[in-house]
Amino acid sequence: MKALCWHGKGDVRCDTVPDPKIVDPTDMIVRITATAICGSDLHLYDGMMPTMESGDILGHEPMGIVEEVGKEVKNFVRGDRVVVPFTISCGHCWFCDKQMFSLCDNSNPNADIARKAMGHSPAGLFGYSHMLGGYAGGQAEYLRVPYADVSPLKIESDLPDDKVLFLSDIFPTGYMAAENAEIEPGETVAVWGCGPVGLFAMQSAWMLKAGRVIAIDRVAERLEMAQTFGRAETIDFTKQDVYETLMEQTNGRGPDRCIDAVGAEAHGTGAWDAVYDNVKQTFMMATDRAHVLREAIMCCRKGGTLSVPGVYIGFPDKLPFGALMNKGLSIRSGQTHVAKYHRMLLQKIEAGEIDPSQIITHRVSLEEGPAAYKTFRDKKDRCVKVVLTP
Ligand code: NAD
Ligand code: ZN
Repeated sequence: MKALCWHGKGDVRCDTVPDPKIVDPTDMIVRITATAICGSDLHLYDGMMPTMESGDILGHEPMGIVEEVGKEVKNFVRGDRVVVPFTISCGHCWFCDKQMFSLCDNSNPNADIARKAMGHSPAGLFGYSHMLGGYAGGQAEYLRVPYADVSPLKIESDLPDDKVLFLSDIFPTGYMAAENAEIEPGETVAVWGCGPVGLFAMQSAWMLKAGRVIAIDRVAERLEMAQTFGRAETIDFTKQDVYETLMEQTNGRGPDRCIDAVGAEAHGTGAWDAVYDNVKQTFMMATDRAHVLREAIMCCRKGGTLSVPGVYIGFPDKLPFGALMNKGLSIRSGQTHVAKYHRMLLQKIEAGEIDPSQIITHRVSLEEGPAAYKTFRDKKDRCVKVVLTP
């Protein structure tokens, strides 16, 4: 089959690789019909994530048609249409029982590596390094889905792929980010980053009865989308001082809830090449990228909440933890428990309350994938979200 494979920093190729096979009786194989490129994939593209190997298949936002099911799969049959969450979960451990699916104890076969880096292992993820399971990703013609009965979402209506695909990751991620922000009705929510995750966090903030949403970015068309899709007021951080503007907008009190939907992204390319392939130095570089977290801690009103869906890697330090402590802030973060939210969010799509396809700017083939990575990475050609159609 064809698949998008990682070969190093800035090097994604459309390769021909072996088709996946059923390994465990709880697996299924899905023929992919649509699969997106995520901001998280850019951390791999930018060479920030250790434990990637040349030839690893990328992608964790797929959907498609069930091609084959293992002997123990009960919920799906060949021909079913499914959205596949990016987190892989066993469905019966202490964490899965509590719907903390991204913290599953059993789905990471390389848990020992993760434990060394983090003390414990989170769930395995599709296409997201060997530390997080080494699972082949879904930017491919076919995908092996372990624990098939647990997380995948059957789509029984005839809604097009474009409208339901983002239930695999970014819509639930935006929703959990807003939920983690602990928004009370009428409150002001500031969202750093108007990429796909930030945009869904804005929509979700309204669902959770925010009174006001203020979005921060520097890319003009993303700020525009924050105004239309996210119904937000906007701040261009290259033209306005974020702290001063937020204080003016909130009578000096600061936003009640702050969402960091940027994560480890660099603010410029800096000495990027020099640090690639050296885990220790990559972690040191991360220091310079803690800017958004720092800004959010400084801006948030006393007693407010900081929600961090943005992915961080390593040790982004120089955080004003003293400010966080003295201002009595709460901070919540995590990979998304997709299967906790996707059914409820599907109902909102079916009811016409939201049309996630509005953020799609590019639809391309797998062969055009490598070029699309670059366009998305460089925020060129008004690119906000790329969907690949194998
Ligand atoms: P993206 O790269 O498309 O968007 C990031 C946006 O942040 C860009 O528009 C960029 O211009 C903006 N930005 C950069 N520096 C900024 C700054 N200083 N202030 C304000 N905005 C700034 O990515 P995305 O797909 O929207 O993903 C956003 C983050 O969410 C990434 O870190 C990604 O890894 C993470 N993510 C997390 C989960 C999860 O489960 N928690 C799931 C998906 C994605
Ligand atoms: Zn993603």
